[in-house]
Amino acid sequence: MSEKKLNGTVIVTYRCNARCTMCNRYKCPSKPEEELTLETIKKLPKMYFTNITGGEPFIREDLPDIVRELYKKSDRIVISTNGYFQDRIIKLCEEFPKVGIRISIEGLEETNNKIRGLDDGFNKGYSTLKKLVEMKHPDVGFGMTVQDTNAKDLVALYKLSEELNMEFATASLHNSFYFVEAKNIIHDRMMVGKEFEKLINELLNSNSPKKWFRAYFNHGLINYIFGQKRLLPCDMAFDTFFIDPYGDVMPCNGTKEKEVMGNLNEQSWDELWNSEQADKVRQKVRHCTRNCWMIGSASPAMHKYIWTPTLWVLKHKFLRFFKKQKYSMFENQIVKDFKEGKVSKEELDKCSTCDMNCKINDGLSEKSKEALKNKTGEEIVDEDIRNQMEK
Ligand code: SF4
Ligand code: SF4
Repeated sequence: MSEKKLNGTVIVTYRCNARCTMCNRYKCPSKPEEELTLETIKKLPKMYFTNITGGEPFIREDLPDIVRELYKKSDRIVISTNGYFQDRIIKLCEEFPKVGIRISIEGLEETNNKIRGLDDGFNKGYSTLKKLVEMKHPDVGFGMTVQDTNAKDLVALYKLSEELNMEFATASLHNSFYFVEAKNIIHDRMMVGKEFEKLINELLNSNSPKKWFRAYFNHGLINYIFGQKRLLPCDMAFDTFFIDPYGDVMPCNGTKEKEVMGNLNEQSWDELWNSEQADKVRQKVRHCTRNCWMIGSASPAMHKYIWTPTLWVLKHKFLRFFKKQKYSMFENQIVKDFKEGKVSKEELDKCSTCDMNCKINDGLSEKSKEALKNKTGEEIVDEDIRNQMEK
């Protein structure tokens, strides 16, 4: 019997040099000496897809070694980055011509720099993207976390991705230990929903079936920002996993507290994956009410329950083609109810994961927490990068 391949996300570091408004991870870095080693990475199972993420993964100078090791067990690798370490990204892509690169760009120049807090962040990210296009690197794209402050740039950024012939990935605000954040919330849901609606119509209007399915994903984001039940079940931890910089294997990055199935530094993969603890976490997933809609959990569900998005796509292509009818966000009953005043903003706010009074779990090890007693996370990471650059 052939071994079942999984979908894995490898968080190689919690160090980050950006200062995003929707994520406090940069304040809570991991200690480099505690981060995932090649020995632990060698213990990971076979995967059909691997996302390498952080923090900012390119902060790790040994990222090429990690990618080399992961290619021995993964059919496809995509790295999510803020695009700052341009030379490292280009060099890595020269060595691994098939690796996917997704750079986060949060809006046009002014908006991006405000949200991401990186000096000249937009130009750096954009010029990295352009260089990769010039190199004819085949798998390049950018991703955007849509929120009140950048929603108006959504369609413009999509058009930019079209011009550059690139993938365009969207997300919206989430709260979790991973983002070290509990206060994220969309305030003007109608405005943000409307911008998603425009994007969905652009995507449905294209000739690319992949984009039609992206339209469904964005339809799911409208549903999410209105605090509704996920469009598809969440099966995280069944054939997908996340591993954090400390070797802890988790179902996802959306939980409020860090949920641990086992530790790969200490256990073998089979021991961990088939453990009682892993099953306990799977039971929690079955009853989870957070209703995240992030590509990491939505994409495996869209593949698994393929008929639901397929029927949605067929319906909308049919309506477009034969009845000249465009997608409307009001096909989500909740949007209609909100517009008609049947449900209030306050009631919708309560359906979100935003919790102004919650004590946030940052998922750090005791040693990493200890390091924060004398310096801030920003100071630690800035010093770290300065040392790397001086070498
Ligand atoms: S969203 Fe990403 S780039 Fe921004 S602070 Fe968090 S980890 Fe860093
Ligand atoms: S809905 Fe799924 S992805 Fe979100 S926190 Fe729950 S188990 Fe994780």
